[in-house]
Amino acid sequence: MKQEEIVQRRERIIRKTVVKEELGQGLQEAEAVLNAYLKERGMNQTPERSQILWTIYHLDAPFDVDMLHELVREKINICRVTIHNNLTLFADAGVIARFQPFPNGSQFFVKSISQPPRAYQVCSQCGAIKVLSMKEIVPLIAAQTQKSFHTSQYCLYVLGLCAKCFREKRHEAQLHQQAVQQEREKRASATKQPRRKKRYTSIKEVRRDQELLALKEKKFPKNKTTK
Ligand SMILES: [Zn+2]
Repeated sequence: MKQEEIVQRRERIIRKTVVKEELGQGLQEAEAVLNAYLKERGMNQTPERSQILWTIYHLDAPFDVDMLHELVREKINICRVTIHNNLTLFADAGVIARFQPFPNGSQFFVKSISQPPRAYQVCSQCGAIKVLSMKEIVPLIAAQTQKSFHTSQYCLYVLGLCAKCFREKRHEAQLHQQAVQQEREKRASATKQPRRKKRYTSIKEVRRDQELLALKEKKFPKNKTTK
């Protein structure tokens, strides 16, 4: 898939990612956790940080730096670097979780305070993310973890290709296969060129070839006669 197409598809994903006013579960607790973390390090809570945290806790989808930047700058004037730095800070403070499932090293984030356990289905080609319910999976995991272990967070994602990227990849593979086949046929027909008639320069050569031919026919007769 071309870089342009990936960008276009990402933009469509961003447009679909919306801030929902009715969400916000866990925001107060996350603010308290973040404030305590900042205080410990002699840092301040700023209006930018508050707005970023507010937006994150009103999203119902995973996000990356660019998606969040698009959404936050609708409310305040903010640069991408500030978003990036604050996401690192928030992840260290434990108010968001960071996932790095892509082969190219890019990351996505989710809110993590007072959130139900979730799993993520991630397309490693275009980055489309679908949230999966863990309702039935959590008891299975709990049965596998130690009884004395206190689980604080689940980090589960399923990597693969979405239907569209899979179709494209299969189509590319078919085209490649066709090209290989055509190349093979081309080479085969090039080697099958008809033999040129030999040019003799002396009568000696003619006789020698005739003798060789006669010998060959004697050894391997063309028509087997049955008696
Ligand atoms: Zn995809």
